[in-house]
Amino acid sequence: MESAIRVRALRKTYQGTVAVDGVDLDVPRGEIFALLGPNGAGKTTTVEILEGYRKRDSGDVSVLGADPGTATARDRVGIVLQGTGEFDELTVGEVVRHFARFYPRPDDPVAVIERVGLKDKARARTHTLSGGQKRRLDVALGIIGRPELLFLDEPTTGFDPEARREFWQLIRELRTGGTTIVLTTHYLEEAEALADRVGVIARGRLIAVDSPARLGHRESAEATVSWRTAEGAPASTRTATPTRVVSELAAEFGGEVPALTVSRPSLEDVYLEMIGDVA
Ligand code: ATP
Repeated sequence: MESAIRVRALRKTYQGTVAVDGVDLDVPRGEIFALLGPNGAGKTTTVEILEGYRKRDSGDVSVLGADPGTATARDRVGIVLQGTGEFDELTVGEVVRHFARFYPRPDDPVAVIERVGLKDKARARTHTLSGGQKRRLDVALGIIGRPELLFLDEPTTGFDPEARREFWQLIRELRTGGTTIVLTTHYLEEAEALADRVGVIARGRLIAVDSPARLGHRESAEATVSWRTAEGAPASTRTATPTRVVSELAAEFGGEVPALTVSRPSLEDVYLEMIGDVA
């Protein structure tokens, strides 16, 4: 099947600063792909080249089968930028209806406003919205054109935990409807909750691409088994065979092992180790 995104040997420099240094990437249709990386790693530059907002120095880029520089895919792509749009005196409903007119087959503005959780604010002027509500409006404008591919640059910055969960649900629904989604985020739990695959970018290079569960060989990494001894003291051991350690402990205790936990490195652990290696 055709990739939604295909990138080969992408490079971009700004006055001698190398922002993107030879990135290859394929995102299949229907995938949620998260791009992770520290500040200044080159995420926004990469994504804005894919969106057609910035010009590359060299490399091949195909977005929905077209070169984003030539913008033939524009109607089929939805974009939520990092910065929030300012619409002053216009209401939420007016802004969403206005943007709907830019697209050949827009979604229903009322339904979109409800989906992003702004139904109660449809008549509110946009300058009265909270930071999280403005971000929801940005998302509404990103999806009003029924995009086949949606770019989200740090979409949930400023969201409270409940709003973030609701947003994740919305993204999953879009994926179920067939939308391919590329997002950048600094929230590792967001990447873990949403992404089919994550790419880690550091100093302009894509240093790893894998599912959140497998990134940095997490699944097979040494586990830490912790418990409390018969005397009540905390104990722990690192092991490549946690199942064996737990069954030995179970035999020793003759049943339940007090305060037993088995943990492997978190996505954050492997991510920090990866970017630390590059720094
Ligand atoms: P953040 O997580 O902070 O948003 P990022 O990974 O999105 O960072 P980019 O914004 O792509 O990083 O920046 C990559 C590098 O390119 C940085 O060193 C940055 O200073 C530089 N850069 C980005 N945009 C410009 C520009 N318009 N002019 C000059 N340098 C730029």
